[in-house]
Amino acid sequence: MFISEMLRDDKVTVSFEVFPPKVESSFDTVKAAVTELNKLHPDYMSVTYGAGGSTSKKTTDIASYIQKDLGTNALAHLSCISSTREQIEKQLNDMRSAGIDNILALRGDMPEDGVLPGGMEYHYAWQLVEDIKKKGGFCVGAACYPEGHVECLNKTKDLDYLKQKVDCGCDFLVTQMFFDNNVLYTFLYNALKAGIDLPVTAGIMPVTNSRQISRICSLSGTSLTPKFRSILDKFGDNPAALKQAGIAYAVDQIVDMVSNGIKGIHIYTMNKPDVAQSILNSLSSVFGRDDN
Ligand code: FAD
Repeated sequence: MFISEMLRDDKVTVSFEVFPPKVESSFDTVKAAVTELNKLHPDYMSVTYGAGGSTSKKTTDIASYIQKDLGTNALAHLSCISSTREQIEKQLNDMRSAGIDNILALRGDMPEDGVLPGGMEYHYAWQLVEDIKKKGGFCVGAACYPEGHVECLNKTKDLDYLKQKVDCGCDFLVTQMFFDNNVLYTFLYNALKAGIDLPVTAGIMPVTNSRQISRICSLSGTSLTPKFRSILDKFGDNPAALKQAGIAYAVDQIVDMVSNGIKGIHIYTMNKPDVAQSILNSLSSVFGRDDN
């Protein structure tokens, strides 16, 4: 099923993000985590794409496992910055053969040294959105950034560029994580004013590791709220307490969003079924999923 159709439904759509194994020997571990996550009945699961296409086959394999073996809709991420058009065409054909209908079209992060391999043909995600739509038969999502993308200092321009991606035919948007819901609400208001009226699903990161979150926030430009900083200050050295507090914070964010009419909740699970389960257990009635 196309995710854009799901997101137009009245009920809250709950989805999980997982990452594929970096090495072949971890394949079964990731598969086991994905199988456990599937028992929580997500509406779909997305599978990330390693920087520079480093996990391309494993992304497709895990997404195909979700779609075909588990019978749950899969969203395969695909980044273009390190690929030629020919490589992307092959990737799309492989995804189609693997039964994948939904793709999150991304530019991908620039290599740390800022130097791309020669001969690359993509500069921005809108070019990938355009190519996938031209090929046809896929539902295409794209990334958006409630606080603005870290490389773009002019937030109005960033929104113009997002509109460009939307105009190229993308069907839905997934947000970068954020810790202040008011940032999301302001972004959605400004996006609508800019003519972006696609379904947007909100990315929520339950933080369970203080070092990891500091790194992710500095790379992505995501701000921590004073409330969240206090949690990190108090429980940063106590993994069990941080995990409980991080889950409680995510639950609080989600309750506020659902109360305010947000209909797509995407949980960055970091392949941790117990974390996703704690969130869903606390929110079954909020999500209208008492039967699951
Ligand atoms: P774009 O939309 O191309 O934007 C990139 C930058 O270029 C922005 O600063 C934008 O303002 C600017 N820009 C866009 N168009 C133009 C234009 N026409 N002229 C000038 N400037 C322009 N990365 C991975 O490698 N693998 C993943 O699986 C992955 N999953 C992600 C999932 C989500 C939900 C999100 C939010 C991000 C994900 N990322 C992933 C990270 C993403 O690849 C990076 O944030 C990347 O730096 C930007 O990707 P984009 O698709 O948003 O790029």
